[in-house]
Amino acid sequence: MSQLPELEVLRKDLERDVVGKRVKEVLVHAAKLGSRHVSESGFVKALAGQRISAVSRRGVHLLFELEEGHALVVRLGASGALSRETASEKAGPHTRLIATFTTGGSLHYVDPGEGGELAVLPMAEIATLPAVSSAGIDPLAETFTWRAFGEELVRRGGPLKRLLVDPTFVVGLGDLYSDEILWAAGLSGRRPAASLSSQEMRRLYRALLEVLHDAVKQRTADGLPPVEEEDFEESEQGDWLKVWARETQPCLRCRQPIHHDEIVEGLHAYQCRNCQT
Ligand SMILES: [Zn+2]
Repeated sequence: MSQLPELEVLRKDLERDVVGKRVKEVLVHAAKLGSRHVSESGFVKALAGQRISAVSRRGVHLLFELEEGHALVVRLGASGALSRETASEKAGPHTRLIATFTTGGSLHYVDPGEGGELAVLPMAEIATLPAVSSAGIDPLAETFTWRAFGEELVRRGGPLKRLLVDPTFVVGLGDLYSDEILWAAGLSGRRPAASLSSQEMRRLYRALLEVLHDAVKQRTADGLPPVEEEDFEESEQGDWLKVWARETQPCLRCRQPIHHDEIVEGLHAYQCRNCQT
């Protein structure tokens, strides 16, 4: 869940659901808390009674803005999920946080893994979190020119796939979106960044923005309940994923088979060897 389009859609959903609500009760269980919190009780005290005035995002961190310039900061791990539930919804085995609202309903944070983190921090401190201060471009939040993007590509160098999944270059792109972007740009994940022509840089820049914005639209549409689970899965892959998990299937552009290539040790990309060069 820590990829950018899904986080942006989640942020919008939560903004609609929880802004204006006041936290009544906070239950926290085995959650990884930010270093500022010495105890669970300190975290609970900082959050209880607070009203949520906005839901914003800083890179892969979701911010529930509170009173007096503070925010509940949630970094979802790879397996973490935030959801709105009824006030009577019970905690499951992996529920790390339940915040119940005075007007009914609650917010649950569930994570079977260990990657996520919670903290209540002054807004001014958020920029100093290591993952925020070292974060690269946020294509859904910032405007940047293709020239600035291209200069940074060349400065960093190395294979394109490795660059795209590096959060200090672009935040929140995992394997799936980096492969879709490279396919849309017609560029191989193995291409050294420094070898790109200015035309290819523009193509990659355009593909980056288009794939992410389309994914936000697609994910927003997914919010509608699917008629049949099977139809949903088929349409999900058929409609908008062009290369991800399509190994051996014909490329949608040139009909040659898609391969799952190793780019550097431990890093793979689904790609078409024929039309991604
Ligand atoms: Zn192809």
